[in-house]
Amino acid sequence: MSVLDLARADIRALTPYSSARMEASGGRVLLNANESPWSPAAQAGEGLNRYPDPQPLALLKRLAVLYGVAPDQLLVGRGSDEAIDLLVRAFCRAGEDAILISPPTFGMYAVAAAIQGAQVLHAPLAEDFSLDADALLAALTPAVKLVFVCTPNNPSGNLVPLPVLERIATALRGRALLVIDEAYVEFTDAPSASVLLARHDHVAVLRTLSKAYALAGARVGVLLAANEVIALLRRILAPYPLPAGSVAAALAALSPDGIAQARARIALLREQREWLRERLLELPDVNAVLPSAANFLCVRWRDPAVAYATLLHAGVVVRDVTRYRGLSDCLRISVGTPEENRALLSALQARVEAA
Ligand SMILES: *Cc1c(COP(=O)(O)O)cnc(C)c1O
Repeated sequence: MSVLDLARADIRALTPYSSARMEASGGRVLLNANESPWSPAAQAGEGLNRYPDPQPLALLKRLAVLYGVAPDQLLVGRGSDEAIDLLVRAFCRAGEDAILISPPTFGMYAVAAAIQGAQVLHAPLAEDFSLDADALLAALTPAVKLVFVCTPNNPSGNLVPLPVLERIATALRGRALLVIDEAYVEFTDAPSASVLLARHDHVAVLRTLSKAYALAGARVGVLLAANEVIALLRRILAPYPLPAGSVAAALAALSPDGIAQARARIALLREQREWLRERLLELPDVNAVLPSAANFLCVRWRDPAVAYATLLHAGVVVRDVTRYRGLSDCLRISVGTPEENRALLSALQARVEAA
């Protein structure tokens, strides 16, 4: 059985759009894409009159080295959000198929499924937010085509150990694609689940330059998967998903200097995360800080609404996650610069002193 047997038959049979940039090879005089022959006005950017490469090879190659896969095992899109959307569209038939998620978790999986008309089945995380592999596999039905696991999990911050992921992958063979979202994996010491790709063609891993590489504004997300899954998704990918400016920004961020800077900042951020955790635990309003392997802390408060308002009053915006299962007393706090973290603490301490 091929992993593609899990995908929608109509997508497998689809004749994809063939863009001018895909058909052209080389050439000096480009009269094939109805572009303007002139660069735009000076400030706009040299060369932007041309459509960008749909999947720029230089970027694919650099990402392949970074993530330890072959370039044909990689799809680059507008954030990992786009990869989530493409997976749901390629694998789930509207009104028939389903995805399986473990709440509390990242909201986009359920939103992408709702847009596609796919059902969302839930196998909640355990009380300590660890992933209960038995509960997850017990919730599987024949309708489930995609199982999403987020590690470190947003918003709870916990990791799913690699042996647990491998156990799930083994159980899902021939039944569903396992999608492992590693948006925050750079903030941990854990190995990437991309090592599973060599043994399982039905495992896909989501990576992003938005968090650890500071490029949320450029919208560059990556899917690592078997080459036939990548080839399938390329058929339904927008013709020119990556703006030229985003590709240039990604290449710069992934230069040796860019990577060295990202590593230094990740180390600082992890130090700050632990420092912030200790300071928060000293506050009388804080009941607990969940263990976090990511760049944020999920904090339990005596009164989350009061804490939120206190911070907002001081100009500090955090995320209210009280609507998530098991987190009704929680706010999620992204770890900032040392100065920003001190501002957060001063605002909370000022409230304690005023009380
Ligand atoms: C931030 C986040 C993403 C989205 O990343 P983009 O590449 O910016 O689209 C994906 N998954 C999780 C769990 C996230 O928290």
